[in-house]
Amino acid sequence: MAKNLEEKIEIIKKIIDKTSIPICLYKNTILYYNDSFKKFLEKIDYDINKEIEILINKNNEKTVENYSDYKIIIEEIILDEKYYIVQIDFNKEENQDYQLFNSKPIIKINQNGIIVYKNQAASYIFDIKEKNINNLVNVSLIKKSIDDGNLTTIINYKEKTFQLNIFPTEDFYLLYFIDITEKSITEKKFKILEKAFNSIHEGIIITDKENKIIMTNTMFSKITGYREEEVIGKNPSFQSSGKHDKDFYIKLWESLYRDGFWEGNIWNRKKDGSIYLARYTISTIKNENNIEYFVAIFEDITELSNSKNSVEFIMNHDYLTGLFNRSAFEDKTYELLENLKPNRKVALILVNIKGFRKINTILGHVIGDFVLIEMSNKLKNIFKENIIARYNADVFSILLEYDEQLKDRIKIDVQKIIDAFKEPLLIKNKEIFVNVNIGVSIYPEDANNIYKLLQNAEESLYKSKIDGLNFYIYSSIDKRDEELYNLENFLRKALKDELFELYYQPQINSITDSVYGAEILLRLRDKDGNYISPAKFIPVAEKIGIIIDIGEWIFDKAFKTFYEWFYLKCYNPINISINLSPRQFNDPNLLGMIERKLRMINIETKYITIEITEGVAVDNIKNVIEKINYLKSLSFSLAIDDFGTGYSSLAYIKKLPLEKIKIDQSFIKELPASKEDFAIVVAIINLASNLRLDIIAEGVETKEQVELLKRLGCYIIQGYYYSKPLPSTEFEKLYLEKIEQAEEIN
Ligand code: C2E
Ligand code: CA
Ligand code: CA
Repeated sequence: MAKNLEEKIEIIKKIIDKTSIPICLYKNTILYYNDSFKKFLEKIDYDINKEIEILINKNNEKTVENYSDYKIIIEEIILDEKYYIVQIDFNKEENQDYQLFNSKPIIKINQNGIIVYKNQAASYIFDIKEKNINNLVNVSLIKKSIDDGNLTTIINYKEKTFQLNIFPTEDFYLLYFIDITEKSITEKKFKILEKAFNSIHEGIIITDKENKIIMTNTMFSKITGYREEEVIGKNPSFQSSGKHDKDFYIKLWESLYRDGFWEGNIWNRKKDGSIYLARYTISTIKNENNIEYFVAIFEDITELSNSKNSVEFIMNHDYLTGLFNRSAFEDKTYELLENLKPNRKVALILVNIKGFRKINTILGHVIGDFVLIEMSNKLKNIFKENIIARYNADVFSILLEYDEQLKDRIKIDVQKIIDAFKEPLLIKNKEIFVNVNIGVSIYPEDANNIYKLLQNAEESLYKSKIDGLNFYIYSSIDKRDEELYNLENFLRKALKDELFELYYQPQINSITDSVYGAEILLRLRDKDGNYISPAKFIPVAEKIGIIIDIGEWIFDKAFKTFYEWFYLKCYNPINISINLSPRQFNDPNLLGMIERKLRMINIETKYITIEITEGVAVDNIKNVIEKINYLKSLSFSLAIDDFGTGYSSLAYIKKLPLEKIKIDQSFIKELPASKEDFAIVVAIINLASNLRLDIIAEGVETKEQVELLKRLGCYIIQGYYYSKPLPSTEFEKLYLEKIEQAEEIN
């Protein structure tokens, strides 16, 4: 697109402006010149117009006139009429620095790109060896540029960027280069800044000192619904929601002027009329001491204030899963029961993760947390709109409302839970299978108030655990209650009539085949002479508190037997283990009771081991450690029983001052087949030997298991492979036999 004369002259004027060497446009007289040229004019004492005229009129090839320390170069340029570019070029010798640093490269080429002239700056900066300009810029590009009417273009040379200004003369092109590297970097920087400005997640409003908006970013528009053009020039107060009084804004401005900064929440109105809460940080940008701009950065926190961060949310929710916590759950239950319509029923479901303690212990608390989160997600998926809570550590609770057809429907819902857990949880690319126990209770059928409803649900859960059921629905007319009631009474009677027996299960050193010790296990026979499993009656004894008295009876009996064997009969003493249930261990009178017994029968307590489960130790570690230390000061040994099944992690166990660890039988049972159990056993043995603890394997039933454990470094074996728990007389027999065998060998 060819440009007309006026346009061309305008372009040339601009080029002249940008050029730092003295240069002017001439036609009959100087039409336009730059600052350098002006300075040059001030220095000379002759009429430059006259001089130029003379030079032009010489009309020979020589358009260069040499003066002592500069030369005047005149180039005719073709702009419809004859115009001239007059340039002052300082001589190298006198003004080298000036040349190099103040002048811009100038090159004159002919139609073929052959360089006919270049100034010092050009030689210095471009380092052109050939006669040809093509290395720097292609002639055809220059020609095309002129044809398109562009007398300026951008070229890159080495690391630098130049604006190339072209002055076409009759047969030549005069090329002026202006280094714009700095400028183009600044421009790039500005582009990046602009991008950043718009990609920031917060809204930004920049206002001038009169607080008129001069700039906003993309997020501003996203949040408020206003486009930038709509708000430029306005005072940001147009967004006001009317929710704040004058005082609020007065304080805001006070602190802005005083501190140059304000932070706080503002209710504003969006374009669509809706009100939102924004978190604002406003600061001032000052020039010397005067405020030039205000920069307000804000984010929409309406959602946040409604949910996650509010105090109310935190008070009512479990931090890990985001579900309701127990107290909120109870409130919601209360509310629901209060407002329940006649003929409608409520089911309270408790879901417990089987073996959660094992997951926590073996895989660590982080994985344990993931399991809980995944659990909660599954439940949320099933019971979307219903009230779901984390009831306690590994129990979730759900509240469902039903009509008359409750019984059928509830089984369907419970089945949904069970089905959901047939699929493994995928945690950190690991498949973890989780089973659940479920306990259900129903209002108002079996409970007429919230407390009874909760209690029944807990009892149902307990039953489903004890009986190994997937779920159990509480029923007040269930005969299990009767059983429980009878068992409670029977336990009281058993204690009174001394129906309990103590059995001794040998612990054998598999290397020497000698008796290392014995664990005392409680036995009770019902009226028909059948054994009742301690796993069944101990929890009941715990629940009704009678375990404390049973415990005292056990200590009494055990100490007497110990005295008989190792003092009266003078057998070599061996280790005797006594179990303490959580309630026994936490009994404040425990230590007093034991000391009392020791005063009556003075035995060497270093041969007595107290077995506690990990569960005992979780609640109040400080108390637990104090108690254990006290028992140790009485020379008892301490063992952690059922190791690997408790809540505690391996790290936690390290804190306890123990002597022994008993590997739980559940890890032994499937050895050597189960790889997972194998890994766990190896880990436990390593841990125990690192902590210099004795290690006892429990529930060992086969020779293979004994050999495997021996190879892994666990020698003390308790289990049916060697012997079932035995009445005291039979144990005595076995003990003596083993000694005899040993003597025969020797
Ligand atoms: P525990 O302390 O872990 O006791 C070990 C249990 O494993 C005993 O069950 C024992 O008979 C059983 N057992 C030993 N070797 C094998 C084996 O090779 N295979 C199999 N399948 N089982 C084996 P028991 O006597 O039924 O006791 C169950 C639980 O009742 C005990 O677990 C303990 O927690 C509790 N308990 C028993 N006696 C007492 C006691 O005197 N006081 C307290 N507080 N709790 C006791
Ligand atoms: Ca035990
Ligand atoms: Ca055990």
